[in-house]
Amino acid sequence: MDVEAISRVVEQANDAGAELIRFLYVDHGGVVRGKATSRSTLARRMASGIGLTVAMQAMNMLDELQPVDGMGPVGEVRIVPDPDSYVNLPFSPGAAAMMSDLIGLDGRPWAACPRSFLRSAITEAARDGLVLQAAFEPEFLLARRETGPDGDRLVPVDESLCFSTTGFALAHDFAIDFVRAIQAQGMAVELYHPELGHGQQELSIRHAPALAAADRQVWYRETARGVAWRHGLWASLAPKPLPDQAGNGAHCHFSAWTAAADSDPGAAGPADAGYTGSPDDGDPADRVEGVSMARPVISDVPRPNERNVFYDAGDRYGLSQLAYHFIGGILQHLPALVALTCGSVNSYRRLQPQHWSSAFVCYGNDNREAAIRIPSRMWGDDEGSANLELKASDSTGNPYLALGGLIHAGLDGIRRKLDPGEPVNVDPATLSEKERRSRGVARLPTSLAVALDELERDEMLMEALGPLRRTAYLAVKRSEIASFSAHDAAYECLQHALRF
Ligand code: GLU
Ligand code: MG
Repeated sequence: MDVEAISRVVEQANDAGAELIRFLYVDHGGVVRGKATSRSTLARRMASGIGLTVAMQAMNMLDELQPVDGMGPVGEVRIVPDPDSYVNLPFSPGAAAMMSDLIGLDGRPWAACPRSFLRSAITEAARDGLVLQAAFEPEFLLARRETGPDGDRLVPVDESLCFSTTGFALAHDFAIDFVRAIQAQGMAVELYHPELGHGQQELSIRHAPALAAADRQVWYRETARGVAWRHGLWASLAPKPLPDQAGNGAHCHFSAWTAAADSDPGAAGPADAGYTGSPDDGDPADRVEGVSMARPVISDVPRPNERNVFYDAGDRYGLSQLAYHFIGGILQHLPALVALTCGSVNSYRRLQPQHWSSAFVCYGNDNREAAIRIPSRMWGDDEGSANLELKASDSTGNPYLALGGLIHAGLDGIRRKLDPGEPVNVDPATLSEKERRSRGVARLPTSLAVALDELERDEMLMEALGPLRRTAYLAVKRSEIASFSAHDAAYECLQHALRF
């Protein structure tokens, strides 16, 4: 690893007084895991990585280890952090973290490393001269954990109405700390509102190049939960933490840009990571619970020599032909792709018709029941704001696999010039079966089992995932189906709520 990058990180850790620096990754169950090094061994561990048993990528979200060839008790890989992803953790004073790649002992990315999967999708896009910008837009439940005669349950912090000022007031202390903690990690906050469900929150952050966007989804998940715990609360980003309340999406917004003339979009590095650290300037907004935070420089705004190739001013929805092909690719692969973007048993409790989560394979203009929504553009920023929103996406999906799969599907659409057909600009659930069939609007998979079967049949995605990763992913996810099938809905919802 680059000596300069190591000393930059060590300096950041010294400035912040970080005692433990977490090297994190996301596993096939979608769980964020890792190991930490002390500051005194940080430089050495950045160079050597931290050892990890290969078995961890065969572990499901209930810590049940699955039998997968090549992922037994023998063998290890190294957790190697990306220096550009360094953040001090405002919700865990004294701790910092970096997102990491899983690297084989031969020094090459391990065939089951999720972050490397996204990196290779980014490289593929770069071959077509494209840089993907993306942002996950998670929703989550803010709740108290209570123990009753029937076990634990989450009780929403309020019963406030959608977008209501009651909701703003009752979640205020949490919301302000959350905003500060997100910003202190270099993510620009766009919007915040109390969502439809009781205790449901939504805070959106600015987009970034794909690798940084996936990292940010991890920082976001960590921060929502971490800040909530410091308030004696639980934040749950699970798709349906409570069966009778609105679901939590993590809609994925994305657009494709031409590469800046002076950057290599396929490579890791400051241009790709989108944020770098700089020493604390003492702004009180960067302090949470008395902890001084480094203030990172936000460098994710596309540069003037980049162009949004999803945009075409002459089109009725402002989209280019390339964007339509990208949509065509996603729609074609969506029944399989949701096995990555909606990666849990709990995901399919959310994807119901007429719940604004999307339940059908179609796209539409500002249609919140379509799997892909074309959001109307921002006044004064037509080109900059032209993007697509995948609604069939939630926070149980491993963001590296989800975004990597999305890029592969879109590129396939571009290369094969796939036509997405006419947009569906009505609620697809209000069309008759016959109308839907004639317009080619299919129901999304109604369970993780169906989605995994679709994934296994999708040659392009299976090829992109590669033998070790796809075998392990299918085994881990199918084991979760088997485990939850022995329990009721309340158990499934609570287990997901506590882990995501
Ligand atoms: N909560 C809805 C979902 O599950 C989304 C509501 C909205 O923001 O449109 O995706
Ligand atoms: Mg929302």
